[in-house]
Formats: sequence, structure tokens, C-alpha cells
Amino acid sequence: MNIAVIGTGYVGLVSGTCFADSGNKVTCVDIDEEKVGKLKDGQIPIYEPGLETIFARSQREGRLNFTTDIAEAVPEADIVFLCLPTPPGGDGQADLTAVMQVADQLGSLIDEYTVVVNKSTVPVGTGDRVEAAIADNVDEELFDVVSNPEFLREGAAVEDFKYPERVVIGTGSDRAAEIMTTLYEPFVRSGNPIIVMDRRSAELTKYAANAMLATKITFMNEIANICEKVGANVDNIRRGIGTDSRIGKRFLFAGIGYGGSCFPKDVQAIHHTAGQHGYDFKIVDSVMEVNNAQKVSIVKKMEEYFAADDFSGKTFGIWGLSFKPETDDIREAPALYIAEELVKRGAQLLAYDPEAIGTFKQATTQAVLDNTTFVHDQQAALNDIDALVICTEWNEFRRPTVDNFADEMKDPVIFDGRNLYDLKRAKKAGITYISVGRPSIN
Ligand code: NAD
Repeated sequence: MNIAVIGTGYVGLVSGTCFADSGNKVTCVDIDEEKVGKLKDGQIPIYEPGLETIFARSQREGRLNFTTDIAEAVPEADIVFLCLPTPPGGDGQADLTAVMQVADQLGSLIDEYTVVVNKSTVPVGTGDRVEAAIADNVDEELFDVVSNPEFLREGAAVEDFKYPERVVIGTGSDRAAEIMTTLYEPFVRSGNPIIVMDRRSAELTKYAANAMLATKITFMNEIANICEKVGANVDNIRRGIGTDSRIGKRFLFAGIGYGGSCFPKDVQAIHHTAGQHGYDFKIVDSVMEVNNAQKVSIVKKMEEYFAADDFSGKTFGIWGLSFKPETDDIREAPALYIAEELVKRGAQLLAYDPEAIGTFKQATTQAVLDNTTFVHDQQAALNDIDALVICTEWNEFRRPTVDNFADEMKDPVIFDGRNLYDLKRAKKAGITYISVGRPSIN
């Protein structure tokens, strides 16, 4: 099939590349000229495991092209994917400016039947708005608007896209449903379902999934906070409840809160949608409040440990800046908030991340930049520091370092926001080790 992908960020680039990899001819469009220039030159502006190989192959074989001109891509396309940003607006509502700007252009570019697919995460009813905007400039018979929410996880985006647990397609049109099913068949050969439903339900499915996952994480973080008060260990609780198949083992790891470009904004957006319809979605209100506090809970532990709220003269190492491992994405990353709070208290920082130093520098405050030295290996972030703060669970932080901290740090004090190390091993290693929802080792 001939596919146009509008918006070439994490979702657009991964979707476009994977569609090209399965034999389609894909043209990706973006308004960011620099990004398009790099992509044309074969440079990938994001870090995603596995993307490079299929990107290079599809580009070499002429199935994956890039342009800044939407008019070069849409008229040829059987399917047009909208993979545009929907950031939070001022009041938490999803900002649909990019989606509607593109929708306004589509009608005059469509001259034979085209399926317009919204892959961006958008509030219920956006499909209707997109449809009306397109219909202003073209006969309604010539297009259908489908909702196809994306469930890929950054850091595992290619795997998730190639082997989705399910594909959700929201449309009332049999013709569009058939085209979409044909497109996705190669990705679900192992038997995972393509679930066709009405468009509004598909739009809401994405928010329900993210709000549920954010709630599960937050619930476990609250259990961890209770563990700290009563002297229990959240690892044991996790094993004790995760083995119950009704609960499941995933998303039960306590830590310093969720971040990223999706959970925070989608939780806000579903809360806002509910409010617009006169419904007070109380549980997600609490999720947002608890998560905001959780992100900086580690700073409170540091204040307690050092018996001070002024960290002047102290230097802290930071391991991990991205909001989760295997990505350079730092949007809403706890590390952004933690760095800011530590610098506000007078600290100097030595920061390391395998992929996210560049993106972190672009997003953080001038005060953090002025007081942070960025280093390019994890050992260098341990030099002459008063404590190490672990913000992201990159695999390379796991071993063998817990046994080596005592040799490599003048005073081995670790605040671990991701519970990377076994408590017994940390004790044996002779370090001070303060984690989340587990007894402190002193
Ligand atoms: P992103 O910010 O990485 O990429 C968006 C791209 O769209 C950018 O390259 C930007 O330059 C481009 N763009 C903006 N306006 C444009 C326009 N008018 N015409 C053409 N291009 C334009 O965003 P993303 O992370 O890929 O997310 C896109 C959507 O997918 C969002 O709604 C998001 O909630 C949803 N989503 C994201 C993820 C994820 O893990 N990132 C997962 C599932 C769903």
C-alpha cells in the first residue's frame, strides 16, 4: 500500500519505518526541516533499539521517503496516518492544534478514496472534528476517518509495533476496516487480535489503558510509602500480590513515579474530558497528586539523611536522566525535577546517562545547567561525590557496581529511586543504601 505518515516523531518514525519494513511504500512528512534533512541523509534523530537496521534497509530499497511537503505525500496515499503531537494545553486538555492544522489541509489534497487514520492520542470526539474539517474541502464519499490508537512503549517501540498485543481500529466503515485489517495482518500473524470497534470507544481505549497503568504504578508507590512507615518491604508485597493472576506481575515496581510524554498528559486529559462531561474522575485526580509528590520524594529522604535542607558545598552524582531506560526521551522525567530541587538547595551535580544527556540539556533550567557537570561514563559520576542518586533503571547500572561502590566512592551513600540492588548485597558491600519502600541500609 501507499502510506503517508504526517508527523515523524517517536510514533510516526517507528510506524512509518515498520510499515515500510513490511513492504509498503511510505512517505513521512514533518514540518521540522532539520529533522527531515537528517532523515533524508539516513540519520535517525531518536534512539530506539532495532530501528536503525530496518530504517536503513527500507530507505535503501526506496520504500521509506521523507519530505516537508504534505502535498508530495497525501495525493498518492491509500492511507494517511496522523502521528502528531497532542501536548497538554494550559488546563490539562489535549492541545489539538497540530492535528486540526493538518486536518484542514487534507481535504484539498484527497482526490480518490483515502483512509485518514488518527494515531495520535486524542480526546473522544476528535475523529468527528477531523472528519468535519476534511469534509469542508472534499466529498465525504472519498474518505473515512479511523481511530487507531498506538500502544507502543518508547525503548521497545519497534518490537511493540512489529508484534502488538492487539491492534485497535475504531471505525463505522466496513471499507476502512477492511483496508486497516489488511495493513495490520502481517503484524499479528502469531494470533493477537485486531479489535474493530466504534471510533469513540477506540479513542477512549487509549486513555483508559494509560490511566489504568498510571494508577497501577501509583498504587504500588503508595504501598511503598506505607512500607517505609511500617517497616515492610515492597519487594515482598510485589511478589506476594503479583503472583495473583487477577493482579499480574507487571507494573508493580515501586519507584520515583511515572514520567514520559504519555502517562502524565493522558491522565490529565482524561480527567479533563470527564470534567467536561460533568464527571469528577476522582481516582485519576489522586494519581496525579501522588505522582507529583513521588517524583521528588527522594529529595526529602536526602534532607533527612543529611539533616539539612541546604546542600551548599555538596556534590551529588546522578545516574539516569531519561524517564525510563532505553530511550533518550526526558519529557516529564523525574530526573528533571530532582535535579532542579537539588540545585535549588545549593548542590552541585555530576550527571550521567547513556543516551539522554543531549535531550536533558535542552529541557532543563539554566540553574541546573550552571551547576551540573555532564560526564560520559558512569564511573566518572562517582568522583568525589557526597551521594549518588539513581533516577533511571538502565541495565548497565545494575551490576557489578553495587559491590564496587565502597571502592569507588569516598563515602558510599546511594539514594536509589528505582530499587536496583538487592538489600543483602548492598549490606554486604558496606554502603549506605536508601531505596523506595524498603528498609534502609546504613
Ligand atoms: P513527537 O513530539 O515525538 O513527534 C511529533 C512530530 O510531529 C514532530 O516531529 C513534529 O515536528 C511533527 N509535527 C508537528 N506539527 C506538525 C505538522 N503540522 N505537520 C507535520 N508534522 C508536524 O510525538 P510522539 O511521541 O511521536 O507522539 C505523537 C502522538 O502519539 C501523541 O498524541 C502521543 O500522545 C501519541 N503516542 C505517543 C507514544 C510515545 O511513546 N511517544 C505512544 C503512543 C501514543
